[in-house]
Amino acid sequence: MLPEAIARQVIDDHARRPRHVGELPGVVGVSRDNPGCGDQLTVWADVQDGQIARLSFSGRGCAISQSAASLMTVALTGKTLAEARELASAYRGMVMGEAKSGSSLGDLQALAGVSKLHARRKCALLAWDALAEALGGASAQAGAGALS
Ligand SMILES: [Zn+2]
Repeated sequence: MLPEAIARQVIDDHARRPRHVGELPGVVGVSRDNPGCGDQLTVWADVQDGQIARLSFSGRGCAISQSAASLMTVALTGKTLAEARELASAYRGMVMGEAKSGSSLGDLQALAGVSKLHARRKCALLAWDALAEALGGASAQAGAGALS
């Protein structure tokens, strides 16, 4: 786990200067909201040959939801669907407080503290929920089977 001061720095940085923001032309976005906190996110995933070629998001809400989305786009751009599935599972485990070792999660570990804040877990998972749906559609279109 990252030291708390560093984790906060990573979250603040991504909340203030989110990466990969904006619609991807020609890609269908998936929107999710978290009414409990007021977060809204749309995620666009451009999958080419089983690989996430481009990934972006747009939205508004709390720092956790926005930085989680930004961190997700950085972590998963260029990854294969299998790698994305593995990271998604490890990340979800970390947020739910079930993580074994988060060493492969890189900067995503900044959000590990959310596991202790039950009400914020949905904020941290919102982007990933939208992504799961976006990738499910993409792999169905490619005939590669659903992401689960
Ligand atoms: Zn939130």
